[in-house]
This record gives sequence, structure tokens and C-alpha cells, in this order.
Amino acid sequence: MTRYVRFAQDPAVPVTAPDSHPGVLRGALRDGRVVTPGGETALLEQVRLLPAVAPSKIVCVGRNYAEHAKELGNAVPTEPLIFLKPPSSLNAHGAPVVFPKISQLLSYEGEVGVVVGRRARHIRAAEATDYVAGYTIVNDVTARDLQKKDGQWTRGKGFDTFCPVGPWWVPKEDVEFDSLRVVTRVNGEVRQDAPVTGMIFNVGVILQFVSEFMTLEPGDLIATGTPPGVGSMGAGDTVSVEIRGLGVLENPVVAAS
Ligand code: MG
Repeated sequence: MTRYVRFAQDPAVPVTAPDSHPGVLRGALRDGRVVTPGGETALLEQVRLLPAVAPSKIVCVGRNYAEHAKELGNAVPTEPLIFLKPPSSLNAHGAPVVFPKISQLLSYEGEVGVVVGRRARHIRAAEATDYVAGYTIVNDVTARDLQKKDGQWTRGKGFDTFCPVGPWWVPKEDVEFDSLRVVTRVNGEVRQDAPVTGMIFNVGVILQFVSEFMTLEPGDLIATGTPPGVGSMGAGDTVSVEIRGLGVLENPVVAAS
């Protein structure tokens, strides 16, 4: 199975494979090593992983599992409910999620992330797979109190560090999508455990719906919604989202300094 990573440039790790962003390198993981497109290698533990993708936008689907919509007292949507997280909210595997001072209620939302592979506009659900590069793991961290208070979701979903993604992304050829399960743990205790087949709107329908109103660019990230079991987390907790076949995305929660 191939896994693609982005990692920080470091003088102590002499490999060169620039991403389009300064100070960012990219490579594939093989046998515990990062292999750059030029064939240079470094040990995985030598490198500091960055968010697995560098999207121009993070498109999210709200209430895409019926049981999750109900657990928050919301109606089950009749068409995809779309919102955005800003790229400034991106966060790497292992990096802290910062609990904002102005929120009292922080929630995890484990989700499958879709990595867009080709520019997409007005595409049909049936051809959506052609536009997908692969899949990853997203934690759609949410300040639930601010989300409710504001009515719209930009602030509650958009703080810096609120979009952990990774640790890597896996090409679609290596993923049996319908067999995936989202398992979220807080301090090792299972809070969410559900198959992705519980999605109301599948990836094809989501891509058709989104590309009808905006152009999706290669590298864009789509968070496909969270299953039931959302709940709070606090400073000092460690949250992990495991999707067998994709990996484990783990982040500590820290208080804002
Ligand atoms: Mg979500």
C-alpha cells in the first residue's frame, strides 16, 4: 500500500523534494522510510510530518449520517449540507489541537477525507471516482458552543489547529472504500465506531453537488461528515481517529496559552 506524506524541510535530513509550499517536502512511505520522487530516502522518525494535503479549500459535509444528525437534535438533510473550513485550520498528525479561550465546549468529529485529484466542475456522481486521488483521515474539530451561538459555522469550525488531517493520504487504488470504518477514541476509549456505508450522501453525490457551484482543484480536501458518537474533549486529552486501511490520526488537546 502506498502512502503519501508531506514533511518539513530540515537541514539534518538531507533530502530535496519541494512541494509547492516553501519549506515543505513530499514523499511516499515504504518500509518505514520516506522516499522522495527523486529516490532519496529518510527514516520516517527523522522527519516532522505536516498536514497530509495542502488544499486550496476544505469542503465539509454536515449531518451526513442520520444517527449523528439525530443525536444533536437536527433533521436528517434532504440534500448535502456544505460548509468550509479555512486552510489556516490545517493541522498535522501529532500536533496539538488548541482549545480556544472563548469556547467552553470542544468536540471531535472523526471523518473520512477525500483528496481531489483533478480539477472538477459540473461532474456527475457516476464519474466522480475519476476526480478522486485518494483518501485520508480528518478530525473536524468543532467549538460546539460557538457553532450554535453564531448560527453559521465559520468560527466554530475554523480556528487554527481545528483540521487535523493525515498522517498521510492513500491512493484510491489501494482503498476498498465501502469496507472503511471510522473509529474515534479519547484517551483510548472508543467514542465513535461506524461504517462509512452509513453516509446519507456518498462521495459521488457529494462531488456532483459541490462541483455544481464551485471548482474543485487538485489537492482540495473534502470531509465527508461524522458518524454518531460525537462528544467533548478537553485540554490534556488525546484524540485519535482510526480508519483501518488508512491509518491512525492522533492529536493531543492543549489549552490556549
Ligand atoms: Mg463534521
